[in-house]
Amino acid sequence: MIGFMTSEETAGGVLTIDLAAVAANWRRLDAMVAGEVAAVVKADAYGLGAEKIAPALAAAGCKTFFVALIDEGVALRQFLGGGGEAVVYVLGGLLPGTEKIFTEYALRPVLNSIAEIHAWAAFCSACGEKLPAAVHMDTGMSRLGLPGRELAALINDPRPLRAFTIGLVLSHLACAEDADDPKNAEQLAAFDKAAAAFGDVKRSLANSPGIFLGAEYHFDLVRPGVAIYGSNPIPGKPNPMAQVVSLQGKIIQVRDVDSPKTVGYGATHAVAPGTKIATVAVGYADGYLRSLSNLAGGYVGDVRVPLVGRVSMDLITFDVSAIAADAARPGAFIDLIGPHCDIDAIARQAGTIGYEILTRLGSRYHRRYIGG
Ligand SMILES: *Cc1c(COP(=O)(O)O)cnc(C)c1O
Repeated sequence: MIGFMTSEETAGGVLTIDLAAVAANWRRLDAMVAGEVAAVVKADAYGLGAEKIAPALAAAGCKTFFVALIDEGVALRQFLGGGGEAVVYVLGGLLPGTEKIFTEYALRPVLNSIAEIHAWAAFCSACGEKLPAAVHMDTGMSRLGLPGRELAALINDPRPLRAFTIGLVLSHLACAEDADDPKNAEQLAAFDKAAAAFGDVKRSLANSPGIFLGAEYHFDLVRPGVAIYGSNPIPGKPNPMAQVVSLQGKIIQVRDVDSPKTVGYGATHAVAPGTKIATVAVGYADGYLRSLSNLAGGYVGDVRVPLVGRVSMDLITFDVSAIAADAARPGAFIDLIGPHCDIDAIARQAGTIGYEILTRLGSRYHRRYIGG
């Protein structure tokens, strides 16, 4: 996904992705559930690079993958290499006229409506083959999946289901991050009831936070995404997952302020004489969100350096008055995501969630994969 060459010397930031931590997170979830642990690698493995992440997960033992789009599935098949043993489901389902692509790349559609079920059944009948697919029941998202009325129609006339193989019946939780939300138990009951209509087929309900709701949510297969990538699946409690991502921004200029001044667009931050400002070559074009302006901080070693002024497209500014000259110089780094400031901390400061920080990590960083 990187459109141009980068190097540690030339890039404005270095993004380090720990593949050993990815594998350890997947294994940790695997130890929690009796059934199968799949991996959701949509959106280029939440921005971390499916080309590297998917093979690392396969090596750890993962056998089933989920993507959002057909094109992501086609790419994933190539990343996973030959053999075609891994099962790949496309959550976005069957789009009109795309049936042949699923067979060509051995992808399985997640059928999200009765219309998609009819289309897949017709395609399988024409091929003379009972090709596998998943069926998605809506139990409370009103987004994708069969609503109750379509399930009732299917129970009334189950003939289309006989034309293909149901590899999985799944549904998706709306409020799993909040263990106390009564919607979790409501969706669990609705899913139990809906899945029973399909008889003896594999069932799947839980995403990352859903896994932590307890064993009754696990069924035959769980579908974690964000927890594998190190974001906390149980907000408000200590993060049980290992950190996967760290980001260092490069200082390109340091100045000693000699008279009262302001920093950056909008002149939102005043600086007194004697202040030392470091300018770092990372900005909102790199996914360092503008809402972090005057809120976030970086770290030089264990010392916090406040971000001062607005985040601009390519640049951010830090007050490094507390940092020695040899550590605050052009070419040196400031930790933007690291041990003192993880994905979820940045997300809180930006007023968003770890998912958005991860999936927006920019393409201009030099990406370094370790632990592979
Ligand atoms: C994205 C997604 C997941 C993974 O969710 P996480 O919260 O990242 O674990 C699982 N199931 C479905 C249907 C999804 O769309």
